[in-house]
Amino acid sequence: MAVPQRRTSKTRKRLRRTHFKLEIPGMVKCDNCGEHKLAHRVCASCGTYKGKKVVQ
Ligand SMILES: [Zn+2]
Repeated sequence: MAVPQRRTSKTRKRLRRTHFKLEIPGMVKCDNCGEHKLAHRVCASCGTYKGKKVVQ
């Protein structure tokens, strides 16, 4: 089994993780109000989906 020759330093580990989860996945901007919303879902703040008002 392959074993690491050197222990990864705290800095190396943290540097590798700096670009983890910068944005919440599946979040897009709403076409109607510009608010962040889940992709393929009705916008929570204005209630539209694909330019049509779905929820009041
Ligand atoms: Zn919206």
